[in-house]
Amino acid sequence: MAEQGTKGPAEPGKRTTGRTRRAVLFGGIGVLGAAALVGREEIGRAWWLLPGVRKPRKEGELDHAGASWTAASPANWRMADRPDDYRIDRIVVHVTQGSFASSVDAFKNPFHKASAHYIVRQDGHVEQMVRELDVAFHSGNRSMNERSVGIEHEGFVDRPQDFTDALYAASARLAADVCRRYGIPVDRTHFLGHSEVPGADHTDPGPHWDWDRYLGLVRAGLTVTAATAATAAPAAASPGPG
Ligand SMILES: [Zn+2]
Repeated sequence: MAEQGTKGPAEPGKRTTGRTRRAVLFGGIGVLGAAALVGREEIGRAWWLLPGVRKPRKEGELDHAGASWTAASPANWRMADRPDDYRIDRIVVHVTQGSFASSVDAFKNPFHKASAHYIVRQDGHVEQMVRELDVAFHSGNRSMNERSVGIEHEGFVDRPQDFTDALYAASARLAADVCRRYGIPVDRTHFLGHSEVPGADHTDPGPHWDWDRYLGLVRAGLTVTAATAATAAPAAASPGPG
């Protein structure tokens, strides 16, 4: 900037040429650099497609120790390699608007076009239907699906009695486990209802879902997990931020 002001009127032709060349040079590097970055990101997201490097996965393998497994139709989710390709930093809370059994059937149906990682039953049973490393189609928002774990809860949004103690407790244990594994903070930025997802046209989990109670139970679940770990290996417990 200073260069232009301090020098008097010079030969305009030369200066213009110099600047133009420089602009072309830097512009070219910018384009190449951007292309290299995009390429690296794309490769990073798709490396598991290369033969021999895909993470091994077994039918029936679970991410949450307390869950059972029923596979959703592969049409209702997309294979990925989270958290290596997409960071997981959100938990989306849903209510099924139907029975547990009908939700399991829907996610198994290749024409349903939706699924969630987990369904929590009113008695506290947890069914996993999509692996956490994969992207379940649960929030109606592609980037939210890519960054989140979706948890369905058996019930209807206008029936508060559907949200039983057992359902809250089991879901909170599950969510605490997910938060611990990916380092997700327990707050209303990182936990959101389906209705709060940008672009969502769903109303779940609705006004009867008790967020304070739920997040309190998740925090308690994290504390229990931390205490168990400290008891198991006291030498490894560090005084760092908890
Ligand atoms: Zn929903």
